[in-house]
Amino acid sequence: MSHRVGLFLFQNDLRFDDNPALVKAAAEVDELICLFCLDSKQPSTSFRSVSHLGPFRQRFIEQSLMDLSTQLNKLSQHLIIKAESPLDVIPQLITQYNVIKISCSENTGFYENHVWHLLRSRYPMITFTRTSSHTLFTQDELPFELGEFPDSFSKFRKMAERLSIKSPIAPPKQLPPSPMAPKQWKPSGIKIGQSALFNGGEQEGLAHLKRYFGSYLASSYKQTRNGLDGMDCSTKFSPWLANGSLSARRIVHSLNAYEQEVEANDSTYWIYFELLWREYFQWYAHRYGKKLFTFSGIKTSNPNTSFYPERFQKWCSGNTPYPIVNACMKQLNSTGYMSNRGRQLVASCFIHELALDWRYGAAYMEQQLVDYDTASNWGNWQYLAGVGSDPRGHRRFDLAKQTRIYDPELEFIERWASNHPTLELDSVDAADWPKPPAVSVQGHF
Ligand SMILES: Cc1cc2nc3c(=O)[nH]c(=O)nc-3n(C[C@H](O)[C@H](O)[C@H](O)COP(=O)(O)OP(=O)(O)OC[C@H]3O[C@@H](n4cnc5c(N)ncnc54)[C@H](O)[C@@H]3O)c2cc1C
Repeated sequence: MSHRVGLFLFQNDLRFDDNPALVKAAAEVDELICLFCLDSKQPSTSFRSVSHLGPFRQRFIEQSLMDLSTQLNKLSQHLIIKAESPLDVIPQLITQYNVIKISCSENTGFYENHVWHLLRSRYPMITFTRTSSHTLFTQDELPFELGEFPDSFSKFRKMAERLSIKSPIAPPKQLPPSPMAPKQWKPSGIKIGQSALFNGGEQEGLAHLKRYFGSYLASSYKQTRNGLDGMDCSTKFSPWLANGSLSARRIVHSLNAYEQEVEANDSTYWIYFELLWREYFQWYAHRYGKKLFTFSGIKTSNPNTSFYPERFQKWCSGNTPYPIVNACMKQLNSTGYMSNRGRQLVASCFIHELALDWRYGAAYMEQQLVDYDTASNWGNWQYLAGVGSDPRGHRRFDLAKQTRIYDPELEFIERWASNHPTLELDSVDAADWPKPPAVSVQGHF
């Protein structure tokens, strides 16, 4: 048999543990190129005013790549990291090394899928293989065809809860060598000071998982999960899950072990419930492709919102008339993270109070979030904008009431925004005349 050179494209599966795509790729060739394209200009959306990759996630991804490189080196392999699109890099490698097989994990990103399909059509002589690794279930395991995707989370959950989840697979013990010489790669060295909550990399992710289930936090998750601040109120698995340095199946496996060895209660079930939300949005993104980014979402008519640059800027910088929103946005801008409750509140404010086009809010979060995940971010935004799969349609949060419930002592607001909201939303009126300054907001909440 002739010498077979393969290429494995790492994307949102930056790990060794439970990576069936990598194991499969390694088994089928004599030499393997391991590639990652850190293309910060990647056009996953067309909202050019915001960048695709902000500093928190960039740092986190770079740390994840360093960790992955170290692990590959232990098996005498190395990671080739390019700051270009796979569409530019892969054709050169195909020609230079006579690559006959290209593999990667399945991906919900529209842009990633577009790149994959373009490469496939350009190189019909090459075998292209994708393996599921980002989700709990493979497409074959789902009890419906994608075209018949359930139109609500509840229907999806009821079906998914009956399915069993395969055990995670062990990391590869050996890999074929690379035909390429190692290439020095230097991370950008982004500094974000003391504010980094998370460090990237599979080892960090696995250590966090162990720490979490080594404590009793899972037993009270349902009571604490809506907390606006603090590392312990929710699991904080999302940053590692998003770039795949932690596998969702590995988390469920650890959760099951906790339930057997420590305790199974409402809270432990609720962690699984939330992971099913994630699963739901992954398949939702698979199902709807480009519609994930369109104004009308999966519906037929557009929301009654528009784009107002001043309001958008004020929302992004946490300078609106709503203290709870300002605090959440300042938390996001300072740390790259915001709680799920916070995300719901700021998105509801964006859509309903500021009447802004939801896609700009989603694009801003894409830039800022350390745990940005295409499917979860755009799917949740659609849901809240009433153009997704929410059977209730409009979901508008009463910000004053939410403040009383989740920040009764105003500690969170004091910590992040000092409770001094901008008085006016707009500096001009509908005819573009400057508005006189507002008098007071005392007692706003
Ligand atoms: C407007 C908006 C944007 C969002 N953008 C993202 C995003 O880009 N990336 C992302 O991972 N999550 C996103 N979420 C979902 C959720 O807010 C985060 O997953 C969660 O806050 C992460 O913190 P955690 O890991 O402590 O979550 P936990 O409460 O501990 O939940 C455990 C896991 O379940 C999953 N999960 C929980 N809630 C959701 C949900 N509503 N949708 C999908 N998965 C969920 C996550 O994988 C999470 O890590 C968004 C939610 C909203 C409302």
